[in-house]
Amino acid sequence: MKDEYRRRLTQLLGDSVSFDQQICAAYDHDLGEMPGVLMAQIKACPTAVVVPKTTQDVVKALTFAGETGTPVTPRGQASSGFGGAIPTRGGLLLDLSSLNRVLAVDQEAMTVDVEPGVVWQGLSKELQRCGLDNRICPTSAPSATVGGWFAMGGVGIGSLRYGSVADVVEEIDVVGLDGRTVTCRGDRMQPYYQTCGSLGIITRLRLKCRKAEALRPYAIEFPDAFSLQAFMQEAIRSFDIDTAILHSDGYVAMRKAAGGHHSLAKGHFLAILAIPESQADDAKLALLTKMHKGEQFSEQVAREEWGDRFYPMRIKKVGPTVLVGEFYLPVDNFAAAWEEIAGDLSRDCIGMEALAISKSELTVLVYLPECSKDLLYPVRMAKAVRPAAIARRHGGRPYTAGMWFAAESKEVLGKAKYAGYRRLKKELDPENLLNPGKIVAPGMRWLPILNLGTVVHLGSALASPFARFLSYRGKGPSPSGEHHEH
Ligand SMILES: Cc1cc2nc3c(=O)[nH]c(=O)nc-3n(C[C@H](O)[C@H](O)[C@H](O)COP(=O)(O)OP(=O)(O)OC[C@H]3O[C@@H](n4cnc5c(N)ncnc54)[C@H](O)[C@@H]3O)c2cc1C
Repeated sequence: MKDEYRRRLTQLLGDSVSFDQQICAAYDHDLGEMPGVLMAQIKACPTAVVVPKTTQDVVKALTFAGETGTPVTPRGQASSGFGGAIPTRGGLLLDLSSLNRVLAVDQEAMTVDVEPGVVWQGLSKELQRCGLDNRICPTSAPSATVGGWFAMGGVGIGSLRYGSVADVVEEIDVVGLDGRTVTCRGDRMQPYYQTCGSLGIITRLRLKCRKAEALRPYAIEFPDAFSLQAFMQEAIRSFDIDTAILHSDGYVAMRKAAGGHHSLAKGHFLAILAIPESQADDAKLALLTKMHKGEQFSEQVAREEWGDRFYPMRIKKVGPTVLVGEFYLPVDNFAAAWEEIAGDLSRDCIGMEALAISKSELTVLVYLPECSKDLLYPVRMAKAVRPAAIARRHGGRPYTAGMWFAAESKEVLGKAKYAGYRRLKKELDPENLLNPGKIVAPGMRWLPILNLGTVVHLGSALASPFARFLSYRGKGPSPSGEHHEH
């Protein structure tokens, strides 16, 4: 960045902007561990980091970027792991976690206005003081920001009742490269949902809340995937379930190896349900459990399992790293898809965690411990795409795009929304300055005629048959272990 630009930025933003190389380098990655060969294709280190004190600082930074043709990357807590918050062309990094005030709670309308950097778990605590709570939150609630989750898109705890994050956001303020702030509601918010801040920076969100209520947790063990699926199909129809989380034996074993308490018998599954106290019917649930060969754990175990819902990545301790494959899957095809996935990757110790997000669909995460220091890591990583490919044959679809899965953006957004996005991008950001390389993949440094998304996509497809045979030889857990007392 030219000296004159630095001077202007400092004049505009004072100590909210930093050019310190060590500070900038701290923002060149997110939670995912990508091989150096891929990271070398982008300019991930920003030239300057802006930590805004007010939304006016965001306006100033964007106006500067628009006038000088500087790329801008927004960032919440970088917990998404899909590369959405990593710069691809250097420029300004906007750390929005500093805008973290709860602006107003409307108890009657049951809504809350927040700045984008407010963290979900903190917001829940704040709302509970006035008898309200978040309708939904990601399982990364202890760190993930409200703005980051909306811009990334997704589903989480509570989605079975309330839908995706798009369904709970009522209104947003967005700042564009011309420094203007627009307020959007209803369909006008759609272009900003799931598009990684590549059309504008969100500076305020109004969320629908719910009355705070006690949830009763249950933990139930099933002997196989088909019994679990049959139970889930009926339970979702029969009860007003807030959240249903499913774990495979491998996942529970990984958690045990990482310091957890419980384990499951080989091939067994765990369902953790949370039902509002007012709707809970223990006798009816016990009958349904028995009908599907399930066995309920004690109330204490259920409470411990439910209490652990925000710490799924504790299992990272068993890897040096953990590869994650994520996708949506119809509930009706869960068992068949899982049997195929488990058979395909049987050489590795794999774990599965799923969340019911509607009466008909689950989001499924497959975890594979791996060694990111291994020379063959770029090939090994391709294992993570195999479960999603199998899920597709069972009616599954991709979860989100970010940067690394930009080649799947059309499928993630849907054809019509993708086409509308491309039109709007040309109109609002013709120079591609707002979070470049997201949704539409970045170009490659070494081979500029190719884009990185296509290379990652094709590379994964080519490498995955070989990756399957490169099994993990680390200290991973064995799925069999001490069985917990019911
Ligand atoms: C342990 C764990 C559990 C998780 N559980 C879930 C889950 O249950 N459901 C789920 O969907 N995801 C989940 N995730 C993924 C991730 O946590 C969510 O997508 C999360 O909400 C992202 O929030 P963040 O603040 O980290 O955003 P970031 O990762 O920092 O940003 C996400 C995207 O939004 C953009 N962005 C950030 N702030 C703004 C803004 N103000 N305006 C415009 N664009 C912006 C960024 O550029 C980036 O493209 C999980 C991740 C982890 C590590």
